[in-house]
Amino acid sequence: MPYVAGDLLCLKCRDMNLSGECLTEYLDRVIGELESEDRVSEETYRARISVCASCPNRWQATCRLCGCYCQIRASIRKNRCPIPGNPGWIEEIEEETESGGLDG
Ligand code: SF4
Repeated sequence: MPYVAGDLLCLKCRDMNLSGECLTEYLDRVIGELESEDRVSEETYRARISVCASCPNRWQATCRLCGCYCQIRASIRKNRCPIPGNPGWIEEIEEETESGGLDG
């Protein structure tokens, strides 16, 4: 999802004067450090991000409803879009395997 990092809502980031490239590296690092069981599949991530990309509630890299970076919020399995009643995307449900364990 393209964005410009110059006017981020997060004052801490603004004070750090992050470039778009630095922000991308930061977001990639945070997502990469998530435990695999907490992170959505690539397919789910892309589907969620494509919804955020065309959402009127998105402002640059940030969701205006929750204040999260869209990439980070969308990368976490248990998260859902914060739109009340009609979220753009919902939690990724783990499926039980035949052995009784959780798939994913
Ligand atoms: S999380 Fe939901 S409300 Fe926020 S930008 Fe994405 S689709 Fe829009």
